[in-house]
Amino acid sequence: MPGEIVYSVVVPVFNEEEVVLESYKRLKTVMDGLGEPYEIIFVNDGSKDRTAYIINEICETDKNVKLIDFSRNFGHQIAITAGMDYSSGKAVVVIDADLQDPPELIPRMAEKWKEGYDVVYGKRIQRKGETFFKKFTAKLFYRFLRTMTEVDIPVDTGDFRLIDRKVCDALKSINERNRYVRGLISWLGFKQIGVEFVRDKRFAGETKYPLKKMMKFAFDAITSFSYKPLKLASYTGLLLSFFSFIYLLVVLYQKLFTDKTIQGWASTMAVSLFFNGIVLIMLGIIGEYIGRIYDEAKGRPLYIVRQTRNMDDANRKPR
Ligand code: UDP
Ligand code: MG
Repeated sequence: MPGEIVYSVVVPVFNEEEVVLESYKRLKTVMDGLGEPYEIIFVNDGSKDRTAYIINEICETDKNVKLIDFSRNFGHQIAITAGMDYSSGKAVVVIDADLQDPPELIPRMAEKWKEGYDVVYGKRIQRKGETFFKKFTAKLFYRFLRTMTEVDIPVDTGDFRLIDRKVCDALKSINERNRYVRGLISWLGFKQIGVEFVRDKRFAGETKYPLKKMMKFAFDAITSFSYKPLKLASYTGLLLSFFSFIYLLVVLYQKLFTDKTIQGWASTMAVSLFFNGIVLIMLGIIGEYIGRIYDEAKGRPLYIVRQTRNMDDANRKPR
């Protein structure tokens, strides 16, 4: 007798043919162990391999497993969002497919939830099997983000977390396109707590976050929570104008009172190159913001669904 769903597990997948089956098995074991009705929602983010096919097969035999199939790759953050949109559990767990986030932590998260916490996030105390570059940039990024924003975003936490239905519903009212989901969840507030875990190495396959996606992710995080880069642009501008003004006085003095004015090609070039560089960087920062405003202004849907499996109409609450 299928009761009301208590747990919805949202798993974004992008070219994960090597891991989906294993990740389904481990999730199933853990979720069966909780002894309450659950659903596992795989969001296929435009995979080009056999991922969708494998999930379809699982859907045939296990009605607790559901599939949202995107029309193309929309990105990890959007995939998570779609999974939440379609979820109907009283608590929603977001977890990576590659088993870097151990499903075995879910019962501990559920415990905290039952104690009354609305958001239980996984805090990575150690990351295994990741490159020095990834760990270093991630550490730096989370700390930098903290200094940039007023929102209290916990460091070293990913999207692996359990959120209560009311947090999920609140999140649905946020329509931002270039989203940084974990930041938005912090911004929402509610009663939050972390549980620590060791992040494993990827079960198989390679990271689906190449440098380009990492950069976009970082820019999205900063621009959606901070104006500080824009302030930096204006402060730098002010400071440089001040020094330029002083230098202008020097130049005028030389012109009027000495005969040394013809020399100085090198200094002219240096000043011009330096200023052009700064100006371009500042324009770039402004451009990042304008681009995002442009995205929002177009108001396109966040994602397009090609098909769903095992999803009843009651769950269809697309934006
Ligand atoms: N992912 C996704 N769409 C993307 C990139 C990644 O749905 O465009 C999924 C991916 O399948 C995985 C999760 O997001 O389940 C995290 O990606 P990954 O493990 O590659 O990132 P990393 O752990 O290396 O930061
Ligand atoms: Mg991973």
